Amino acid sequence: MSSENRRRAIEAVTKYVAPSEDYSEPLGDLFGRNVFSKSVMKARLPKTVYKSLLNTIEHGAILDTTVADIVASAMKDWAIENGASHYAHVFYPLTGLTAEKHDSFLEPDGSGASFAEFAGKTLVQGEPDASSFPNGGLRGTFEARGYTGWDVTSPAYILENPNGNTLCIPTVFISWTGEALDKKTPILRSQQALNIQAQRVLKLFGHTDIDTVVSYAGAEQEYFLVDRNFFFARPDLMSTGRTLFGARSPKGQEFDDHYFGAIPERVLAFMIDVDRELFKQGIPAKTRHNEVAPGQFEIAPVFERANLAHDHQQLMMTTLRRVAEKYGMECLLHEKPFAGINGSGKHVNFSIGNSTQGNLLDPGHTPHENAQFLVFCAAVIRSVHKYGGILRAVVASSRNDHRLGANEAPPAIISIFLGEQLMDVFDQIAKGGATASKEKGTITIGADSLPVLPADPGDRNRTSPFAFTGNRFEFRAPGSSQSISGPMVAINSIMAESLDFIATELEAAVAAGTDFNVAVQRVLESIITTHGNVVFNGDGYSDDWQVEAASRGLLNLRTTVDALPQLDTPEAKDLFEKYGVLSNRELASRMEVYLEQYVLSIQVEAKQTLEMAKTLILPAAYRYQAELAVGAAALKKLGTEYDSSLLDSVSSAIGELSTGITALAAALDHHGGDSTYDEAKYGCDSLIPAMDAVRSAADALEHLVADDLWPLPTYQEMLFIL
Ligand code: ADP
Ligand code: MG
Repeated sequence: MSSENRRRAIEAVTKYVAPSEDYSEPLGDLFGRNVFSKSVMKARLPKTVYKSLLNTIEHGAILDTTVADIVASAMKDWAIENGASHYAHVFYPLTGLTAEKHDSFLEPDGSGASFAEFAGKTLVQGEPDASSFPNGGLRGTFEARGYTGWDVTSPAYILENPNGNTLCIPTVFISWTGEALDKKTPILRSQQALNIQAQRVLKLFGHTDIDTVVSYAGAEQEYFLVDRNFFFARPDLMSTGRTLFGARSPKGQEFDDHYFGAIPERVLAFMIDVDRELFKQGIPAKTRHNEVAPGQFEIAPVFERANLAHDHQQLMMTTLRRVAEKYGMECLLHEKPFAGINGSGKHVNFSIGNSTQGNLLDPGHTPHENAQFLVFCAAVIRSVHKYGGILRAVVASSRNDHRLGANEAPPAIISIFLGEQLMDVFDQIAKGGATASKEKGTITIGADSLPVLPADPGDRNRTSPFAFTGNRFEFRAPGSSQSISGPMVAINSIMAESLDFIATELEAAVAAGTDFNVAVQRVLESIITTHGNVVFNGDGYSDDWQVEAASRGLLNLRTTVDALPQLDTPEAKDLFEKYGVLSNRELASRMEVYLEQYVLSIQVEAKQTLEMAKTLILPAAYRYQAELAVGAAALKKLGTEYDSSLLDSVSSAIGELSTGITALAAALDHHGGDSTYDEAKYGCDSLIPAMDAVRSAADALEHLVADDLWPLPTYQEMLFIL
């Protein structure tokens, strides 16, 4: 089986002909072509309507629903001119995937003809049959209604298909009681919370003209590509997204020869196509390169406002998978498709800012800017220390456990890397050395002792889960298949809380007559003294760090089962409730859904492992054993000396595999517990080790059984034939 697939895959590569595409239109001209963008709106909407919409999009003003009819009509005309026959409310359920409900523009007019209709109310609200989306107890089936609601801040776009285009409208997804059932609603809410608190801090710094403060996100997406001939021959890849079996290939990634190496022809053709597709949707894809592991690649867009970045990131994942198919490849977004080979992350770069004060995490060039920057930076330090558990919980999944729990980039311990220079500044502050008392009148936090902070912090640290990289932080723990919503909601919320804390302290100090500079120094000093423990500039992969982190009191939550309960702590509940991001009920429902997903994924993996072991691997091993036995018998008959060691090894590995299979089947038969948490714990503590035992016996057999009998494409084939 594998040799046939191998032959076909090799053929696909060697006889590769790029699908004929019309690439005559320059990439730059394509940008945003399928987007109902501001310029399209400006051209097609009455001036007052456009202005009103813009005010909502740019400054978060409340949407004037009376304009909906006008916008809907313009949108429909534009969409139909662009070949759309249908429209879809696109929403982002808690599965982390993207959902769409398509409806036709056409409505019968009763006389046997039809007319195109798209009213304001259809634009603003939809009611998808939502009963099968996970809701974690927020909806009983008797109250299964879910509503989608237009998110004006994320532009509508056209999704192309050779058979007809669709107008896609990004929406929130809520229950009939108004509770969030999706990943978008809390982003919007948390952006608001962040804005309010950031404004207070900026006011204290004397700014009077302050635009809405938002967070920006730029997500680096890692992924693997494999030839589809292999993909379809791997039931595990098809059902779980990762290989549940597979011995290490003689050559892995030890030579580091893949990173930034020349991109294979077929892959490059795919990447160019992806870029063009993304550009049409107004997604600013920017960098593309090989990653560390063979068969692994990365794509990164230019950062955008978190809400938009989220929607675009979802579209990017869909696009990667869709376009890969066209080139005969499967795009694997799983965090760990291949054991022993680097996993895939989705580094979420983020900053906070607005049009009037710019990037608030940019150190700037003057002490004044430094002071403000240091306050925002201190807010990050405090947030990550105080709410490290939440940051760990929002990146928890059975898939990501293979990275974080396995002490692979980055570890499960949430710490911050500041870089030497910035660390030094905070050290001075902690010692009270960078005093603010030197000159009156101007803000001179450390004017004498602080160096002007360079935009490029010099050193990079790739082992830290949360690293300062010059003018932004990079959260490296999110996994490649995850939505960036969880991370951004958490970051916005914990930052809102820290900025609230800082603003409250400073306001009180100033009201009590304390000099502002002195007050800032005191707040910074207290934050770095209380929360500085979270700063770690060393090697996050080392064993020493595990020990040291424990002595610093930092959490080290290796598995999803350990991490998710962090959403159930009083601190987490208070945080999300206080800033209006998620009510306690909404938060609890999320934890329930994520636990449920964990349980389901582990169960599917366990069942798939059992199935493959029984129906593919064991039969191949028996065949080989029989072949060896027949040979042995024949040789014995001839009186020839026979070395039975291979047959013995095969037989003993078969014994181990059989034992493993029996144990896994028994484990699967067992009921894990009454609560979802108990089931998850059972999956983690019992099913995973049982699967591992089966795998290790099977992988041992892969090294023994004759290649022509082995039923699965090997790691070597999947990783190196592209
Ligand atoms: P790396 O060297 O870490 O691999 P990349 O160039 O691949 O960097 O990706 C960096 C990501 O960070 C991009 O998505 C980029 O747009 C984003 N980014 C850059 N500046 C900011 C910023 N100020 N705020 C948020 N994201 C940013
Ligand atoms: Mg990168």
